[in-house]
Amino acid sequence: MARIMIADSGNTDWRIVSASESSSVCRFAVDELRKYMKQMNGCVFADGSTYDTAYAIVVGMRSDIESEDARHLSARADGFDGYSLAITDTRIVIAGDTERGVVYGVYDLLERFGCRWFYPQQDAKDAEVVPSLPALEVKSASVSYASPVQYRICNASAFFFDIVPTLMKAQLDAAMKARYNGMGWQCDHRTFVGDQYKELESTGVIGEMKKRGMLLHGPAHSFQHFLGNDYYEAHQDWFGMKDGKRVKQVFGGAQFCWSNTDARKEFVDNVEKFVLASPGLDILCSLGWDGGAACTCPECAKSTPGDLMLTIQNQIVERLAGSAPHIVVEMSGGYSPVDDPPLHTKPHQKLRVIWAHWGRYMGYGYDDPRYDRIVNLETWRKAFPGRLTLCQYYTDNFATPWISAPYTTVTEGDRKYIRDKNISGMYMLVYPEGYWWNHGFNNYMAGICHYYWDKKAYDVLSEFAVHYFGPSAGPLMAAYYGQWATEIDLCYRLKGIANDSDAAMLAQQRCLYIDPAVDAVRNDPVLAHRVGKVAKLHEMAERLEEFYRRRDKIEEARVAGDFGKAAELLPKVRAHKEALLAFMRSLSDLGIGLIDGREVDGFIKMSFDGWLDEEEKWIAERSAKKREW
Ligand SMILES: [Zn+2]
Repeated sequence: MARIMIADSGNTDWRIVSASESSSVCRFAVDELRKYMKQMNGCVFADGSTYDTAYAIVVGMRSDIESEDARHLSARADGFDGYSLAITDTRIVIAGDTERGVVYGVYDLLERFGCRWFYPQQDAKDAEVVPSLPALEVKSASVSYASPVQYRICNASAFFFDIVPTLMKAQLDAAMKARYNGMGWQCDHRTFVGDQYKELESTGVIGEMKKRGMLLHGPAHSFQHFLGNDYYEAHQDWFGMKDGKRVKQVFGGAQFCWSNTDARKEFVDNVEKFVLASPGLDILCSLGWDGGAACTCPECAKSTPGDLMLTIQNQIVERLAGSAPHIVVEMSGGYSPVDDPPLHTKPHQKLRVIWAHWGRYMGYGYDDPRYDRIVNLETWRKAFPGRLTLCQYYTDNFATPWISAPYTTVTEGDRKYIRDKNISGMYMLVYPEGYWWNHGFNNYMAGICHYYWDKKAYDVLSEFAVHYFGPSAGPLMAAYYGQWATEIDLCYRLKGIANDSDAAMLAQQRCLYIDPAVDAVRNDPVLAHRVGKVAKLHEMAERLEEFYRRRDKIEEARVAGDFGKAAELLPKVRAHKEALLAFMRSLSDLGIGLIDGREVDGFIKMSFDGWLDEEEKWIAERSAKKREW
């Protein structure tokens, strides 16, 4: 394949032909192309048109491209948000099937020069991977891509609760570059959801999304906004029954009374008002408030939460079909309190479902015979043929391990299931925000793998390692992460289980990969910073192992009947625990996305203290009980 010179030390004969000038998304794509080409080489492209330009990069919608240029393109690929890219010695043609396809096509071209966007830009010391290239050269090519998955939604961590526009903009930018086509938004419960939407608009978050052609999905758990607790005084019967009493939608309360016709009408009215006042919304996905049980009144008891929820959602679809027909409506399934599919009610033909298995084990995909919720998933899927979105938790450190392994196996398995069963949406839940770098690779990999269907997850990992950590540390990091990806239970055990072979493996990894990688990039501040992040998390893994080992020594002594020794060890282990928590806090304080400080002082501290308090109690009781895992 010939290599084609585009620019040499900032000089270029090439021009840009912007074929779809009326589209702001296509103009954005051209701006991105100019921005990164200039950053790599210093070159600035003049504008051209097809017939007056000898060397041209033509960018636009396939339908807008002159036949003279379009003849270079291969046939479009089947699927969503597709593009074709042709590179010849006089023409580079980027043709999108849709506006988003144009943006993806530009990123594809830039990636051919070595650009990569693995993480949102939240760490000033860790810039995007944009190489400096005195000679901007590229190989000839002709390719077409499209995703089989219509909705690829990134529910990035900054899109939860508080609105912090700078972080949201950084994360949506990275999501688009990882080939997601929409952002999932989880509103806050403290202020009215409609006001929050307006804030997203006034702070430019919606604008940044629309500039890229991205969809907005949300506002997720939000029922309490559409039938607020302020109705309680006047309409107690609209509220859910719990232990024989009507209660509000608050912690310890219940969902509203879904069988009450008037309550439903008021609810749907309010949903409609919100939708009409939120023009940037594309997929309305409103869920019951998180953690609330369904109403147990006699009328609700005659039905099931699944049937009642479906009744509400069907009404929303019917209502919006008149007033906001562009809106796609999605309900939740598999997630409490709507765990089980409806028994009698049929979903409206346009209604979608987002199916969520919170806390799912990341060792294998939905295609694996060991996957134990397949019956529930399959029942929902059959009730919503071609209209199911999978809520994925690869990036939820609240539900999954504190140190993320690359979930390559689960990605491959899920992808097989998605393809075989005509799944049309995936929703990546990224939470909480303090882990943004820790789980960032899985977010990137999932985006790429759900767009480029033939790309192997494991290859995305190796490619990441080399581009992100550089040619000397890259292969070491690829081998290191490869082990974590293969030995997937390691990261699960690091949530509480001491294991000799894990300790040995971690020690060996330090010798074989971490230390040599640190050494290899010592003189490059950016690469040293990146490898340093891995080294810090690795140190956390080793310290966790050490803590569990010491804690188990207490148990060992106690179970053997040596209560004196157990009592003597306890304060030492408590001190060790404090040091470990302080170390974890120090990682959080760096603010580089390694761990979430609120979690350290919340659930993590709680579990550490829980184990030791239990030991203390059992020592006092002179109990030889063994801990159960
Ligand atoms: Zn009820």
